Amino acid sequence: MSEIATAIDPKKRLAELEPIARTLEPDGAARSALASAVFQHTERFLEELPDARCYIGEHDRGAKVHAFEVTEQGNDIEALLTLLNEGVHHSGLNPASAGHVAYIPGGGLYPSSLGDMIAAVTNHYAGMFYPSPGAVRIENQMVRWMADLVGYPASSRGDLTSGGSVANLTAIFTAREARGLRARDVGKAVIYRTEQAHHCVAKAIRIAGLAECVQRTVPMDDRFRMDAGALEAQVARDREAGLRPFLVVASAGTTDTGAIDPLGAIADIAESTGMWFHVDAAYGGFFLLAAEVRDKLVELRRADSVVLDPHKGLFLPYGSGALLVRDGEALRDAHTAHGAYLRDMPADQDWFSPANHSPELTRPFRGLRMWLPLHLFGIAPFRAAVSEKIWLARYFHEEVAKVEGIEVGPEPDLSVVTFRARGDDPALDNELNNRLVADMHRDGRIFVSSTTIDGVLWIRLAALCFRTHKEHVDLLIEMIRDGLDRVSGGGDDAPGH
Ligand SMILES: *Cc1c(COP(=O)(O)O)cnc(C)c1O
Repeated sequence: MSEIATAIDPKKRLAELEPIARTLEPDGAARSALASAVFQHTERFLEELPDARCYIGEHDRGAKVHAFEVTEQGNDIEALLTLLNEGVHHSGLNPASAGHVAYIPGGGLYPSSLGDMIAAVTNHYAGMFYPSPGAVRIENQMVRWMADLVGYPASSRGDLTSGGSVANLTAIFTAREARGLRARDVGKAVIYRTEQAHHCVAKAIRIAGLAECVQRTVPMDDRFRMDAGALEAQVARDREAGLRPFLVVASAGTTDTGAIDPLGAIADIAESTGMWFHVDAAYGGFFLLAAEVRDKLVELRRADSVVLDPHKGLFLPYGSGALLVRDGEALRDAHTAHGAYLRDMPADQDWFSPANHSPELTRPFRGLRMWLPLHLFGIAPFRAAVSEKIWLARYFHEEVAKVEGIEVGPEPDLSVVTFRARGDDPALDNELNNRLVADMHRDGRIFVSSTTIDGVLWIRLAALCFRTHKEHVDLLIEMIRDGLDRVSGGGDDAPGH
């Protein structure tokens, strides 16, 4: 390497570089060995899953993984898989676990991982129709399937996103474009939502440059649903004041309690005032598959845009959200752009291309992780699984109410149930519930989360992991009973104190 650049013979340098660069392409035998090591690793994970704790709070804060640095020469696969096993799989939350009933779970269907593998190995370009019409057709078909589920017309379009937050952001940006809102209009434009709207909506409003809109928090009824009468009155007052009602964001299944806002009444108000009506159905949307609750969700079809989260109610691994927009052209108009380097793309194919319905250009072939399980299993087991979650929530609601010292929240609309411990002194109840949650987290077999509503701490069960069945709910009830015995005997005796 001491020669000056011009003195180097290109052939000689290439001969040096090529064999090293070629190590990026293992041969068939090496590929099989890698794949089989990874397969054994994931099999072991799945075999241990039923008995593994869902939550492991005592850990090294990822120190092992953190200390393991990238090197010039690399490592063998066994060492890396061992590190994953020791440094990743057994600390914190295991979202694949049947015991995950915290936040909003989903699970992660196995065939999706194989779909991801096919997508990654083939590396199809799913952003545009022309380089990969087949891949784009698969993406389009998944969007269409969800649009049909929601009851949207043929002119609707959508996008497979990385998650619900990005889908909500894309929806709110589309609303802004569709209503022709310009920077100078922002101060007079009004956005309506309730306190129970997911926090990603507030984030999306900021990212979309709408933070300076007038933002109204609409009152809710005693079941945390938007009060449509209050919305109507507020909209009327705002119009009288010369403001411009622009966007109403409703929830179909709030994260805290699973509440469904009165979609039909909100649609009426939005229609009569020209507001964009967006529904965040990231949690609740796929309950459209369940005959038990379908009626509560049919008015979703009246929304201008709807967000669904296939990595929740369709049980896909993380990385799958979806946006549907009733007026498909609004979505496309908001996201179509042209670059000189894209001049080979035939314009009549714009309609198909995900890149024209999304902030992304190059993106993973996301459709395959949804297409493979849907076509492999058919829809029937998905219907059964979401219905099962509804019945699990109803069953839990009934059974946990029988536990001495437990108060339950309302009958679940979908599959979230809230409950809390009640002690002798109401002023100490939040502390009692904090201790109960901590006790259950130390146990870790079933993992619950908690929330505060109007200053009151509630513990939640959110049944949505496809692996969660009656036995897990029974175990949770047993843990609540035992935990309550431990923590209500007086705080100082509680384990860990
Ligand atoms: C989960 C959730 C979101 C956020 O979706 P991500 O996929 O986590 O980005 C938004 N809204 C609701 C109602 C949710 O449950």
